[in-house]
Amino acid sequence: MSGTPARIGDLLGSGQRSFSFEFFPPKDEAGEDVLWRSISELEPLQPSFVSVTYGAGGTTRDRTLAITARIAQETSLLPMAHLTCVGHTTAELLDILAALRGSGVGNVLALRGDPPGGPGTPFEPTPGGVDYASELVGLVRRSSDLCIGVAAFPEGHRDAATLDDDVAVLRAKQDAGAEFAVTEMVLRASDYLGLVERAGAAGVTIPIVPGIMPILGVTSMTKMVELSGRDIPAEVRSRIEPLAEDPAAVRAEGIAIATELCDDLLAGGAPGLHFYTLNRSKATREIWSALSLSA
Ligand code: FAD
Repeated sequence: MSGTPARIGDLLGSGQRSFSFEFFPPKDEAGEDVLWRSISELEPLQPSFVSVTYGAGGTTRDRTLAITARIAQETSLLPMAHLTCVGHTTAELLDILAALRGSGVGNVLALRGDPPGGPGTPFEPTPGGVDYASELVGLVRRSSDLCIGVAAFPEGHRDAATLDDDVAVLRAKQDAGAEFAVTEMVLRASDYLGLVERAGAAGVTIPIVPGIMPILGVTSMTKMVELSGRDIPAEVRSRIEPLAEDPAAVRAEGIAIATELCDDLLAGGAPGLHFYTLNRSKATREIWSALSLSA
């Protein structure tokens, strides 16, 4: 991709539905092969953008930078790099932002990051760094022309005292310069619609894109949902649990549930869908074709 990268905030602001895919930096060469195969299998779907996570505690700094740079330089895709406050001084964060810009990456998802002990454990700020995502947004805004996205939480962030506090934080991120938000995986369309309503009442006007992760296995999904401090909704559990002995049936039902969720979210006015791919393309492609998302 050459020239100035498109701004995701502008794409979302144009009113065109966005469809995006999220990847994580693999740990080894075999994982790299899987990632790049998935990227090449998803590229023909022409997503609005793709994003690459930043490992807990800043552990994937170089890999996140390298993967987003390669996507920018060698594919037709628009990459967004995730960046977290955890473990970095302000000087390090500024270096990372400069490296992103220098490699043709124009969009960043500014996050606090989970505490090094994992979600739900106490967060320890880094001396000389920034403590909250809103401060990171401010730093990015003051130091670069990068387009900034932030995280939002359909059922509130697990550490937020109230749902009103939760959307006040989203508002603070908007006020600091965020142009759009992407949510944690949505488990029920009504949770997302509730967030949009609360956010609107708190003066949040930036687009909020729901995050989608289909259930492909009972254990993996239960663990993932627990990490976010939530429960799998009873109406989902009752469709999946009777199939627990049959992994193929769980997967098929998980794809069906995700497809229905996507339909409901788009019908409810969601500006797009952000798919957590876990570096695999098959499930995302199946949902994509079930929704007839191609232009
Ligand atoms: P913040 O907005 O800073 O909020 C963190 C907590 O602090 C919340 O409870 C909030 O209510 C509270 N808070 C915020 N500001 C204040 C304030 N001024 N005073 C008091 N309390 C405040 N993690 C990674 O490590 N790498 C990733 O790549 C990554 N990608 C993600 C992508 C998406 C779409 C989402 C939804 C999450 C992602 N996360 C990632 C997880 C995220 O880092 C954690 O959920 C983290 O705990 C919160 O991040 P945040 O940016 O929302 O933080």
